[in-house]
Amino acid sequence: MSGVALVSGGSRGIGRAVVRRLARDGFDVSFCYRADEDAAREAEKELAELGVRVLAERVDVGDAEGVRAWIARTERELGPVAAAVTSAGITRDRPLVRMTDEDWEAVLGTNLGGVYHVCRSVVFGMMKRKAGTVVAVSSIAGVHGSAGQTNYSASKAGTIGFCKALAKEVGRYGVRVNAVAPGFIDTDMVAVLDERTRERALADVPLGRFGAPEEVADLVGFLVSGRAAYITGSVLHVDGGLVR
Ligand code: NAP
Repeated sequence: MSGVALVSGGSRGIGRAVVRRLARDGFDVSFCYRADEDAAREAEKELAELGVRVLAERVDVGDAEGVRAWIARTERELGPVAAAVTSAGITRDRPLVRMTDEDWEAVLGTNLGGVYHVCRSVVFGMMKRKAGTVVAVSSIAGVHGSAGQTNYSASKAGTIGFCKALAKEVGRYGVRVNAVAPGFIDTDMVAVLDERTRERALADVPLGRFGAPEEVADLVGFLVSGRAAYITGSVLHVDGGLVR
């Protein structure tokens, strides 16, 4: 399967590895980012050098109207979206007793709201075409829960519930929906952890190392491909065997 792939949060980290993987697999790529223009331009250049058509749009996935406009522009300029991957995500870690309403709303609005806004705009077209696939980047925090991350864990567990429900709604239209649950992956999001937290985290990983963004991207590339044609409503872990 190829065509047009849409990736939220494609300028850095896991999303950046996903756009690279999908471009190498022959997809034209539309990605969004929120603020970091330099990273977006770099990603755009790299994709263009791979010989695919690229659209990079600055849009906050928490903004329903902005996401609608981005997806409309993508379909107008590149064509119908065959694969949508939601990777845009943030953390605002604090114990619940110190969490602010703003921490809660920002994380839920971006991580879970973003998945809703993207799917709300792309899925109807996929159903009409009887083809298409969605992969949401959740987290092992949404499976096991993670102390200091009630907001983040709730957003990622919500993403899993969302994907399972949507897979049931749209399966009969030939549309597949899956989630991936990464463990600790070496990106800017994990780089902010202090040394002690990193060591404690590593001790829980049987493979003894953090994952690379490319290792998540390879799974996403598989899930959007025809090789995963009978997989929907699943949550695939890519976590080095993380024990919780
Ligand atoms: P990252 O390196 O911080 O990259 C985040 C990306 O999302 C950037 O491209 C960023 O754009 C974009 N983004 C953030 N907020 C956005 C918004 N409101 N609207 C549009 N784009 C937005 O993060 P990452 O580690 O790659 O994480 C990617 C996904 O994997 C997230 O959903 C995260 O929860 C999940 N995940 C990560 C890990 C891990 O260990 N790294 C583990 C499990 C799950 P700007 O730079 O322009 O802000």
